Amino acid sequence: MQIRPNVIVLTIPLGESQVHPVLLKDEDGLTLIDTGMFDQYEALIQAIEEAGEAPSSLKRIILTHQDTDHIGNLPALAREFPVVRLFAHPGDLPVISGSQPMLKMTPERMAQLPPERREAFGRFLEQLKQLPEIEELHDAEHLPWGGGLEIIHTPGHTPGHICLYLREQELLLAADELRVLDGELAGPWDAATPDMPLALRSLLKLKDLPVRTILCYHGGVYEGSPDELIGTLTESLL
Ligand SMILES: [Zn+2]
Repeated sequence: MQIRPNVIVLTIPLGESQVHPVLLKDEDGLTLIDTGMFDQYEALIQAIEEAGEAPSSLKRIILTHQDTDHIGNLPALAREFPVVRLFAHPGDLPVISGSQPMLKMTPERMAQLPPERREAFGRFLEQLKQLPEIEELHDAEHLPWGGGLEIIHTPGHTPGHICLYLREQELLLAADELRVLDGELAGPWDAATPDMPLALRSLLKLKDLPVRTILCYHGGVYEGSPDELIGTLTESLL
């Protein structure tokens, strides 16, 4: 779904739900934000093609954080499209590059997976170690892609979680810092947010920005501002 002239929201199935990577279109090619779970490569490529774009036009991949439903197709994409530049916040970069264990997919959790899934996961973790260099993105950094975007570091869901803000388009790419549930905007998911107090403090960085549209990786597009919800969720902090 095209939500701005140069912003396309992709939809790929994940279990009984869906996730929403984003494509930013610029003259020099495409920037992909998040990549889906590792067994969704075909679905991701199909979604890009169905949006009328060529996967071979991919120039950059930005990872909003380390969780596997966001970085899952990174190894396959880096292999297929070796000129692509990769970006993440230093708070999650050592995990994404395979040099530190994942925050949520711990060895204990892996041991509970069915054997086939566990093996696939093990292969995926090995592939992370083969990735080319991942470049660092920092809080308040301005980048030209998508017509201009700002990085907002929003730790809590993971240490290196980032949101992307396209100020001119009044568009917030919230990743997992916000969700859409049954059409309503919601905060981070408790069960997947190890440091909720920090995630709530991070929400305050998203408040009072001019925002008309929010894209949540889980739940999709929400037309409106997050300010009221953020006010409610962070009341106890103020
Ligand atoms: Zn997620």
